[in-house]
Amino acid sequence: MGEINMEEQLNCALCPNICRCECPVLQVSGREAVAPSGKARLAAMLNRGQLEWDEQVLEAVSNCLFCRGCTIHCPFDELSLCDELLNTRLQARAAGARLSPVDPCLSNLKKYGSPYGQKTESAAAGEEGAAVLYFAGCTSRANHPAAIETALSLLDRAGVSWRMIDEDCCGFPAEVWGDEELARQLAAENRRKIAESGASTLVTNCPECWLTFTERYPAWEEELPLEVIDGPTYFLQLMKEGCLEPRQTDLGKVSYHDPCIWARSARKTAEPREILSMIPGLSIEEPQAYGELTRCCGGGSMFQLAFPEKAAAIADRRLAEFPADAAIITACPFCREGLYRENRPVLELVELIARACNR
Ligand code: SF4
Ligand code: SF4
Repeated sequence: MGEINMEEQLNCALCPNICRCECPVLQVSGREAVAPSGKARLAAMLNRGQLEWDEQVLEAVSNCLFCRGCTIHCPFDELSLCDELLNTRLQARAAGARLSPVDPCLSNLKKYGSPYGQKTESAAAGEEGAAVLYFAGCTSRANHPAAIETALSLLDRAGVSWRMIDEDCCGFPAEVWGDEELARQLAAENRRKIAESGASTLVTNCPECWLTFTERYPAWEEELPLEVIDGPTYFLQLMKEGCLEPRQTDLGKVSYHDPCIWARSARKTAEPREILSMIPGLSIEEPQAYGELTRCCGGGSMFQLAFPEKAAAIADRRLAEFPADAAIITACPFCREGLYRENRPVLELVELIARACNR
């Protein structure tokens, strides 16, 4: 468990929600208890022994997407409210409080290594001894395996020798839902399999996995013994090296949705746009909030599994910020899923690159 910073929690608890316009859960719920400083007040009271855990309190302090939208206007540079809330929530299980909607997901994680249930594609694949390990993440595996096939087809086209392991979930969902022990078990198992693969580079298109590997695993003393590269940077590099040659697609106008983690944690806002600019014939129009000022799709930190209705309302608000006649491009399986509507094309960046290069 990370350290709780009472001074920062109290700073936030006493703040008049300077960031209120940027907190998606507050925007769709209007409940003060889930406003950033409302959650900080509850966390501070819990940590000072002025409030007891129960399901209602846990529900309120779990209303956080890890989107870091609150950092945009926050006057406290050292404050990470989502981490403070996470560290506080890690005490809830010992106090007997459960977030009941995610109980089945935690059982699935324990039993199958995926919050979604039995893995449909569990076997390792690719070339034994390959230098590049592609880590898909459990959301793509469960909900959009076509994007994995597409990414692998691009690696083949670029002449990259790749392999996949029999992945388990990176562990972050277990931590978010308060089971740090399970999160660490999943991390240890993944680390063992990744180390045994002998690969020197891990590529992932899942921002949650990337953040967990680069921030959480070192904190859990499970640092990965290889370089971890985000998908947008890796595929851009292949395009710049001439390994992938984009041609004109059937798409006209596109608008890029910056996933929160790529934008505010990894600071990867230029790379996806460079990829778009290298595809001939695309007209690019930005949504209302973009780059590091992006707004969450509602899918951050597996929020959609705990609070599906709120996640959908957050996605609807975000969708309204895009030009109506543009195809939405994003670089995250959660964002693709959250923003997808039958009448609205949403593509992952690799799917767009494949449309341009696999022709
Ligand atoms: S996160 Fe920062 S701006 Fe938002 S309520 Fe807390 S202290 Fe205020
Ligand atoms: S990280 Fe996002 S959801 Fe959580 S309090 Fe900040 S703005 Fe709200």
